[in-house]
Amino acid sequence: MSKFKAIRIVKEPAYAASYSEFDESELMDGDVTVRISHSTVNYKDGLAITGKSPVVRRFPMIPGVDFAGVVESSSNPEFKPGDAVVLNGWGLGETHLGAYAQKARVKAEWLVPLPKEFSPAQAMAIGTAGYTAQLAVLALEKHGLTPERGPVLVTGAAGGVGSVAVSLLATLGWHVIASTGRPEEAEFLKKLGAAEIIDRAELSGPGRPLWKERWAAAVDSVGSHTLANVLAQTKYEGAVAACGLAQGMDLPATVAPFILRGVSLLGIDSVMQPKAKRLAAWARLARDLDPAKLEALTTTIGFDQVIETAEKILAGKVRGRVVVEIG
Ligand code: NDP
Repeated sequence: MSKFKAIRIVKEPAYAASYSEFDESELMDGDVTVRISHSTVNYKDGLAITGKSPVVRRFPMIPGVDFAGVVESSSNPEFKPGDAVVLNGWGLGETHLGAYAQKARVKAEWLVPLPKEFSPAQAMAIGTAGYTAQLAVLALEKHGLTPERGPVLVTGAAGGVGSVAVSLLATLGWHVIASTGRPEEAEFLKKLGAAEIIDRAELSGPGRPLWKERWAAAVDSVGSHTLANVLAQTKYEGAVAACGLAQGMDLPATVAPFILRGVSLLGIDSVMQPKAKRLAAWARLARDLDPAKLEALTTTIGFDQVIETAEKILAGKVRGRVVVEIG
């Protein structure tokens, strides 16, 4: 097929995303062509589709930052037709035509073989958000933190990064405190392994430079005042893995937690991670992510529901992770 279904974002006459058709001749440079079977909806996809933040830097664009699929053709010896593959990040859906399409042409070095433990749908249930949660857990471990040091806090707990982080950390034996603005999701979070639920309002307003020490570690996908308050309540020589900005990109904090308690702020980026670190993260997901919990936190939608789901995720109305069946 030279024509294929895709979501097209244009910026003239006004920024807009719509279901459309692309021609293979419009695909960008790359040495591997993939037939996409599944994708997912991440927060960043919501920003791209709605145009709420300048995520898209090339027009027309096909949004979608990650996919699972099967190699259709390859001029790179590392991949051959029929190989099952996964791709997260590398500018997909931002600078390079992305995942909400039946086809993609990409660079071989961006692709990771689909881990044998996961189906393509499960790999996208994990998706960028879940793989980022795993990178955050690895960063806390690299810092030397273990469950014996005290509880771990997860903010934005009912979201994509948050729900996978809760699941992974609980399996590893951490006492997980889940912060959420959705009290109705308390049971869901407990099923994933949260030991305590706190109201995100406790953390989201302007706070003091230091508060009572409450947690040894944290995974924060919220930023802004929340991250400042999380740092201010982190125990001596604890660490916070910062990966998101659902509340805001600002960080209205003081240096007090760093210089008086030796707290560390660990930055997490999923987009440009080298392949070796990606493979290590997928291997740990295969070991530590309980498939029953993954299923419990996943909802599946059709290709024609992506645009409406993009709006829902920005409104904080998506629970856990969403798999898109591209078909
Ligand atoms: P989701 O929308 O699924 O989750 C975000 C969660 O944050 C929401 O579910 C909600 O949790 C909470 N939240 C939303 N708005 C606010 C607010 N105003 N104040 C406080 N909490 C809020 O998104 P994802 O999990 O896909 O992504 C989370 C963040 O991580 C995003 O900012 C995203 O851009 C970032 N990210 C970064 C990556 C990286 O490479 N660094 C990779 C992937 C994601 P609840 O309802 O439980 O309160």
